[in-house]
Amino acid sequence: MLTGQCLCGEITYRVKGEPTRVSYCHCVECRRFTGSAVLIGALVNRNVFEMNGNTMQYRSSLQGIRHFCGNCGSSMFYEFDNYPDRIEILVGTMDNADTVIPTFHGFYSERIGWFDVADTLPRWHTMPS
Ligand SMILES: [Zn+2]
Ligand SMILES: [Zn+2]
Repeated sequence: MLTGQCLCGEITYRVKGEPTRVSYCHCVECRRFTGSAVLIGALVNRNVFEMNGNTMQYRSSLQGIRHFCGNCGSSMFYEFDNYPDRIEILVGTMDNADTVIPTFHGFYSERIGWFDVADTLPRWHTMPS
């Protein structure tokens, strides 16, 4: 079972199941949301996802809403309008992410020029659905 929390611990979650997709997103919105070079997200079904605490929410596009902790500011989740039965968890918030392994790069064309990773994973110009 996957568990995680924000930096201050006000928001905790657990997942009673496996992610259906784990990926890097290099898009500029994800970079701003995380303050980092890349977002790593694990998509899970809502029926195996449990959260304690209340996130703050920000609609960053017509496609989705970003969730973060209003107390410590940790970026936590991404909610898709098109897939209300799923939620994407930011892997950096997990207690143990060793088994949560990304399988592709999304929005690779938007990456920071110097940022490269030595893997052979597929690199998509956008995000595959
Ligand atoms: Zn917090
Ligand atoms: Zn993105």
